[in-house]
Formats: sequence, structure tokens, C-alpha cells
Amino acid sequence: MMIVMKPTATEQEVEAVIERVESVGARAHVVDGSELKVIGAIGDREHIARIDLEGAPGVDRMVPILKPYKLASSQFRDGRRTVLEIAGRKLGGEHFAMIAGPCTVESREQLLQTAHAVGDAGAAMLRGGAYKPRTSPYAFHGLGQEGLRLLADAKQETGLPIVTELMDLRDLDDVLEVADVIQIGARNMQNYTLLTEIGRSGRPALLKRGLSATLEELLMAAEYILKEGNDAVILCERGIRTFEPAYRFTLDLTAVPVLQELSHLPVVVDPSHAAGRRDLVGPLSLAAAAAGADGIIVEVHPNPDAAICDGPQALVADEFAQYAERVHAAAAVGGKLLSEYQSVANPIG
Ligand code: PEP
Ligand code: MN
Repeated sequence: MMIVMKPTATEQEVEAVIERVESVGARAHVVDGSELKVIGAIGDREHIARIDLEGAPGVDRMVPILKPYKLASSQFRDGRRTVLEIAGRKLGGEHFAMIAGPCTVESREQLLQTAHAVGDAGAAMLRGGAYKPRTSPYAFHGLGQEGLRLLADAKQETGLPIVTELMDLRDLDDVLEVADVIQIGARNMQNYTLLTEIGRSGRPALLKRGLSATLEELLMAAEYILKEGNDAVILCERGIRTFEPAYRFTLDLTAVPVLQELSHLPVVVDPSHAAGRRDLVGPLSLAAAAAGADGIIVEVHPNPDAAICDGPQALVADEFAQYAERVHAAAAVGGKLLSEYQSVANPIG
């Protein structure tokens, strides 16, 4: 339920509404728009039904949120989009952010070479996994703490904010030392204890859509983070399982405008894991950016043939600048206002 206050509502009237919401066992989330103050009452249906504030002092109206996700719904923000600013790089609304880097951190040289290549080409953030979810228990699972230390060095040397995955809550404190954005992998989208703790940490989170998750399930997962008071959630479409075996996953680009309709949260696209093949990453990235995605998260490696993980889908670091220019241009076509660090080329040139 959303309780919309009158523009003239006093602080005491707002306080009284919050008290009433909490008295029935619901949580009150105050959204302070420039003119409009809205209080979201979140909790069990029966609890919410007991809040009757129609006509109470300072209250303009009560609007039920019909979707099962509440804080994630676009209705909750009255159509205003969430814009995140992460170490000076904006994402969401009219801002586009390219997040690029290796699948997994392998060595200092590999990471720094990639970090410089993507940073120089206008990437907003550096990605790189220190903890890797792998299908095979026998595969390389990342450098762990050593990987985090290398990410910290790359951040210091390039100034790029870091996006890195957290798989296990036992590593939360270590990951918080370096991550500007915590990535939640597709396989952990419904790991609700992980989501809750990341919510409590307050650190921006990039939540990947599960391999077979519906958009509603993705938004319900986002709700777990938001309900802990963490408003900084980025949704990520990374390809879903379909009947088509010709490529790794089916990139669901329809999800971009539909998620932006259902939710105020920024939506980024991962073309690398969907495609599984380098030659498909360019066209999928251009399509995602032109469709209005708020960003792209893409894998890049100095020498993909030697990559320990996901080499066949990695862009070559030396070729990244050309790719980034075209994607930024497509983002402009998709309605984004680019910052000066984001260079632009002719997308069809
Ligand atoms: C990754 O980003 O490296 C990754 C493992 O992605 P996903 O969780 O989408 O498979
Ligand atoms: Mn990968």
C-alpha cells in the first residue's frame, strides 16, 4: 500500500502515519520525492488491510500496489526512475554505463591490462570474478582473496569502480572491502539469505536473472534486497534457457523495456553469457543499447585463447575501444545522454 501525503503535510503527520503502519506489524518505507512524500506500507496482506488512514491528517490518498513486488514496482516511485551514482559514474534514467572486464581474475598482468583497455575506452566500471560459480566442481573457482587484492590494485591504478560476485556469505566482509557493486550470479538469484544480507550491507547490487526465472521472480528477488533498506539494485538480463540449442542462452531483449515498465530499477544486459560466442557479443550489445538498456556488462580478456574461464565469449582487449564506441553510439540512439568519458562512433560505420 502506498500512502500519498498532501504537499502541506507536517513532519508530525508523517510520523503519525509511520507509527500507524508499524502498529499493525508492517514496515514503513518513506520515499521523499521533490514535491511528493509517499510512505510505502510493506507487509502481510492482512496487516496492510488493517491500516485505515483514509482522511487522516496530512494524508491525501491511499493507493494499493497491485503487483506482488512492491518496492521494486514502478508504481512505488510514481514513474520516477532510479539513477545510481557509483564512484561518480551514473547508471539509470538517461545515463548509460558500460561494465567490462574479465570473467575471472587470473593474474595481475591480465587484470591490469584489461582494466586499462576498458577504462581508456570509456567503460564506467571494471568487472572481474574472484569467486566463480562453475558448472563443474572440478573447474577453476577463482583466486578468492588474492583475486580481491588484485581488484583493489586495479581500482587504485585506474580509478574504475569494481563489480565482483559474492557467492558465499562467509566472504561478505572481504568482498565489501573492494566491491563498489556486488554481483549476484544467475544461479544465486533465489538465494534469499544471500539477498537479504546484501540488502543489509547497503552496497549496490547487480542481480542477474536466473537461468529459468520469470521477470516477476527476478523482481521478487530484487524485493528481498530492497526491503532491507538498500535502494541500489541493478537488474541484469543475461539470457535464459529456451528450446534453442544453437547458442548458449536466449538473450531476452524484450525484458529490457518490460522491466523498465514494471520497475523503476536500472536494467543492464550481459551479452557475453547469453551468446557464449565472441562474434555474437557485438550485435547483441548494439541491440540491447538501442533497446534502451541502462548498461552493458561484458567480458574482455587480453588473450581470450589463454583464458581460464569463458574465453570463447570474451572480447579481445585490444579491440575493445572500437566496440565501446559503437555501443555508446547505439545507447545514444536508445535515448541515453552520454558523459564526456564515453566516446561515440557511427554505430553502423
Ligand atoms: C559471470 O558474470 O561471470 C557469470 C558467471 O554470470 P552468470 O551468473 O550470469 O552465469
Ligand atoms: Mn563468465
